[in-house]
Amino acid sequence: MAARTKYVLDEADLPDRWYNIVPDLPEPPPPPLHPGTREPIGPEDLAPLFPRALIAQEVTGESYVEIPEEVREVYRLWRPSPLYRARRLEKALGTPARLYYKYEGVSPVGSHKPNTAVPQAFYNAAEGVTRLTTETGAGQWGSALAFACAQFGLDCEVWQVRASYDQKPYRKLMMETFGATVHPSPSELTASGRAILAADPRSPGSLGIAISEAVEQAAADPSARYALGSVLNHVLLHQTVIGEEALRQFALAGDTPDLIVGCTGGGSNFGGLAFPFLREKLAGRMNPVIRAVEPAACPSLTRGTYAYDFGDTAGLTPLLKMHTLGHEFVPDPIHAGGLRYHGMSPLLSHIFELGLFEAVAIGQRECFAAGVRFARAEGIIPAPEPTHALAACVREALRCKETGEEKAILTALCGHAHLDLPAYGAYLVGEMTDHDLSEEALTAALATLP
Ligand SMILES: *Cc1c(COP(=O)(O)O)cnc(C)c1O
Repeated sequence: MAARTKYVLDEADLPDRWYNIVPDLPEPPPPPLHPGTREPIGPEDLAPLFPRALIAQEVTGESYVEIPEEVREVYRLWRPSPLYRARRLEKALGTPARLYYKYEGVSPVGSHKPNTAVPQAFYNAAEGVTRLTTETGAGQWGSALAFACAQFGLDCEVWQVRASYDQKPYRKLMMETFGATVHPSPSELTASGRAILAADPRSPGSLGIAISEAVEQAAADPSARYALGSVLNHVLLHQTVIGEEALRQFALAGDTPDLIVGCTGGGSNFGGLAFPFLREKLAGRMNPVIRAVEPAACPSLTRGTYAYDFGDTAGLTPLLKMHTLGHEFVPDPIHAGGLRYHGMSPLLSHIFELGLFEAVAIGQRECFAAGVRFARAEGIIPAPEPTHALAACVREALRCKETGEEKAILTALCGHAHLDLPAYGAYLVGEMTDHDLSEEALTAALATLP
């Protein structure tokens, strides 16, 4: 039989439950705290922002949560997603390693984000919410939520980071095509936005600022709720559909990963791929090394502090214990907009502290070099974010070439770059710099911790 390139599952093999890793951990993660009292917050504190079903998922002690049939119906538009064996890249690198990628760019918006946008819109609509507010950096999350809101008849309002709003008109048009309203952030529509603009009328914005604006709007409107595209437990829970499928696909391939690599912005595509494999590892059924890759411009896991901090810039969210660079930190404008977040998923941060995975930071030029190499071999142009994971895979594949090791490496190819091509343009003409975070900037950023 010819060597297989794709491992595809039938629609009937779409997982029917998401996996919650919390009960399998040796210790539970620290709870979110109320910023005033510094006491653990209760579900009622989150009720103005999220529907009851999602709050319940945020704190659930169950190992599995059933995926509603209404959500599975929408998932079937693109799921199960393919697992590829990167045979052409292996050949181009001359490596004895076996490289696999789980490709989420087949979703309607081109990334993994709809895996959580769809259930979030579903549960909100089921509880009578009529309007969702959110932020978007690179535009992937805003597009995903706009698509999901169109599926369930909700109004969608998106605060898009100013720099991205100006540079990515096609993302805005995609959101508007799905029926969403898009504002540049900071905006004059919120107190948080006005405060930033008063200090700096030309502020390029940041994810932290855009979150403040969207949260403020949702809290002020009883018929509205807020939706977050990463960081929170329920988001990582929904993304485990990726890893559950990949486990079945590895069984089809008759292989087991020795190394799993993913990029981390808020941690959702990485956690979504890695958690089901980590369950297997904790149960002693396999033993992969698991590695997160972050940008050297925004290295929360490798250089941030593990401390309680706000999830947004204005300090409107509960305090989350996480790896953070400080909530006022505004990362340099690197092209991987989805990785420009000052914090990290509290659950992933806790698992990192438990020593269950490792992390590296890589500068963006090495990442784009890997992205170009990948594109020329495999034909898919990776979004700027997963080029970070690919750079780590290339490093490892070349190491295997030196040692002769035949490792199986699995990576999350969480999106394509069709609307991010200007970033490749900048790389190809040599107009890209790394923006590695300096010691001085790091010290100044951490001084803003509450
Ligand atoms: C949003 C996004 C990211 C970063 O978010 P995570 O929660 O860390 O996955 C990475 N890649 C793509 C393509 C994204 O859209």
